[in-house]
Amino acid sequence: MKKLTIIIPCYNEEEVIKESYRRTKQVLLSLPNPTEILYINDGSQDKTRLLLNEIADSDPQVKVIHFSRNFGHQPAVTAGINRCTSDLAIIMDADLQDPPELIPQILSLQEQEQANVVYCVRKSREGDNFFKRFTAKMFYRVMNSMSEVKFPLDTGDFRLIDHKIMAEFGRLQERGKYIRGLISWIGFKQVPFYYKHETRVAGQTKYPFNKMLKFASNALLYFSNKPLKLAMSLGFVAVIIGLILAAWFTLGKIYGFSNAESGWTSIVSMIIFFGGVQLLTVGVLGQYIGVLFNEIKARPEYIIEEERNF
Ligand code: UDP
Ligand code: MG
Repeated sequence: MKKLTIIIPCYNEEEVIKESYRRTKQVLLSLPNPTEILYINDGSQDKTRLLLNEIADSDPQVKVIHFSRNFGHQPAVTAGINRCTSDLAIIMDADLQDPPELIPQILSLQEQEQANVVYCVRKSREGDNFFKRFTAKMFYRVMNSMSEVKFPLDTGDFRLIDHKIMAEFGRLQERGKYIRGLISWIGFKQVPFYYKHETRVAGQTKYPFNKMLKFASNALLYFSNKPLKLAMSLGFVAVIIGLILAAWFTLGKIYGFSNAESGWTSIVSMIIFFGGVQLLTVGVLGQYIGVLFNEIKARPEYIIEEERNF
């Protein structure tokens, strides 16, 4: 029987953690497989730490990793994958938006298809507001058109991965990990599982707009150099426009069909426009330099303060 680990990152989840544990544990007890839950406390400032320690003290099948501070959702999941030694792992959110009751179906699909990855596709996102649904939909489609690796649409980190995927994942050197993208990139046999994304049972989202923006731009910068190419194309178009205008005004002067002196407005607008094009292009370049800077520093993705039940 294959051993299963449920990897759950938590950041300030005091309102949901008990209920989350109760429902997950109930499902795990119904399985014939040996199981464990691995919580990663991503530097919570509320009672999450205390509650997780309580759970770990009462249940030896619960492992807990406490980070030294808040490093983010992706580093937390990375730590979970790195510390998992089971044959199979399922990555889930703490807020029960990914219902643990689906675990048996996901497992049997894995068994039936002999899949290395079962990625869970959101048929609907009941729990999220219009803004989140819209931006998420856009994000997955833009990513797919920009990236050389193709990703399944509307798929988060909620998925089952096997030990082969975990081993390959462990070999990845990059620090800014966009996990769902990297798992697609690793390959092997990956099959979809369709489900309904539920409402958060309690508490607020831990992904405010600025974190969402950082997550999305990271994904784009790490998986695509199309923005650089677009920036170059923009420069190219600007040069062509400049050349055409120059030719037009010169010929106009010679043949007298253009009266260029009166063009203060046009000159100022052109300067502003091309100044903008240049800044934009330099900005795009700067983003990639930022990524390089981040990678070259080679800082660890997260720092562990304490581990329980390992
Ligand atoms: N999370 C985390 N670190 C963070 C932000 C979020 O570990 O900095 C966890 C959070 O506790 C939850 C999961 O990542 O288990 C997804 O976050 P959330 O449900 O708030 O995001 P949403 O579903 O609103 O996109
Ligand atoms: Mg959520």
